[in-house]
Amino acid sequence: MAEDTVTMEKLVALCKRRGLIFASSEIYGGIGSTYDYGHYGVLLKTNVKNEWWRSMLAERDDIVALDSAILQHPRVWEASGHLAGFTDPMVDCRTCKSRFRADHLEERAPGLNCPQKPSRLPGEGPDCDLTPARDFNLMFKTTVGPVEETGSVAYLRPETAQGIFINFKNVLQFSRKKPPFGIAQVGKSFRNEITPGNFVFRTREFEQMEMEFFVPPAEAPQWYAAWKQERFDWYERLGIRPDKLRLREHDAGELSHYSSATADVEYLFPIGWSELEGIANRGDFDLTQHAEYSGEKLEYFDQPTNERYVPHVIEPAAGADRATLAFLADAYAEEEVEGELRTVLKLHPRLAPVKVAVLPLVRKDGQPELARELFTGLRGTMQSELDEGGSIGKRYRRQDEIGTPYCVTVDHQSVEDGTVTVRERDSLAQARVHRDELVGHLAARLASPWRSPKLA
Ligand code: ATP
Repeated sequence: MAEDTVTMEKLVALCKRRGLIFASSEIYGGIGSTYDYGHYGVLLKTNVKNEWWRSMLAERDDIVALDSAILQHPRVWEASGHLAGFTDPMVDCRTCKSRFRADHLEERAPGLNCPQKPSRLPGEGPDCDLTPARDFNLMFKTTVGPVEETGSVAYLRPETAQGIFINFKNVLQFSRKKPPFGIAQVGKSFRNEITPGNFVFRTREFEQMEMEFFVPPAEAPQWYAAWKQERFDWYERLGIRPDKLRLREHDAGELSHYSSATADVEYLFPIGWSELEGIANRGDFDLTQHAEYSGEKLEYFDQPTNERYVPHVIEPAAGADRATLAFLADAYAEEEVEGELRTVLKLHPRLAPVKVAVLPLVRKDGQPELARELFTGLRGTMQSELDEGGSIGKRYRRQDEIGTPYCVTVDHQSVEDGTVTVRERDSLAQARVHRDELVGHLAARLASPWRSPKLA
């Protein structure tokens, strides 16, 4: 079994080395805690989002999709409570000029330390001089139109959820759905976080995957329970080891003003147990607020019972970047193979950026031509890559490090009898397969049940 040696530094280094995720604006010296995704990172995060969509849309028939604008009417944020209350308590250190979240200090959050005395918490070093906590609004403010004047202020959305609530009436009208039903959305959100950090765990610009599930009020508790379970299971189905996942119910003091119950799916990141996703019972707070502020009726009329009501809302809110980081952390392994250390991402095949790489052993004797032919036959069915350059060992290492589940090697025998070697990423087992059967062989193996080989 591979040892679990993952650290945040190793993940950052691997992501940079293989071009998955790297610091943004690097040629200008970078801009703190902002990251760009390269080719394999885009493929990986797209797979994460697609799996989320699959679980919301393809695998059920009670959810519809939405893509609302990032810039919304400023009243949206008044109604939602973000303008007045979307704040974090901020504490500054007068000595080292660092900034911390007071709630993180209180709970002694993992990875939090005094920049001058990393073995201690901020405030505990001999020279620490912390200010009292002040509230800091996390919304990014901007202006709309060419003139900066009152009335042109807008905010970058700090969550995608409000775009769903303000479209409740539209969706109800066009989707022919009735409660219980959901509206799902994936998109960028922006928060001027006081202390971003830990790679893509907390950034100021990030992608969310949120779904608002509208239910008759009496059904809210049962749907809350069902969504907690479903969202927990989703991570497990995609290969996260169950002992690294837990559901943590918020206690009364932790609950947001709108929520009667909230639970977090947490993952044991290298920085410790941290939130991956929140599932909240938001009651009728959002629809009632938007109805009041907009003057529109946001309710459901049930004809058979002649009943009019404001649906309650269950919200699973996940982060695409945080989920991607969790999948990377859970997949990362280092192991010794024939006296050499190999680093490998044991990703669920459905998440792997590239499913198969075709590698000619040498760049002559008809091998590159055959490899290209095979690659052309595969790429329409699965994300494939043709990798011709460098020693075969180096190419295997590259594919292992980006988590490619299968490598197809073309050798001299392939040119003679049409068979190729299929090498499996995790077990390193090799099978000889005829080229005519290659697509079917790989498709079947990719579709078969998978569990993390890091499990005992
Ligand atoms: P936290 O307590 O970590 O700040 P939160 O409880 O404010 O998170 P939510 O508002 O519930 O987060 O957002 C839902 C999800 O969006 C989070 O579980 C996380 O996956 C993601 N998310 C929130 N803020 C960030 C961020 N700054 N960077 C990356 N992902 C984020």
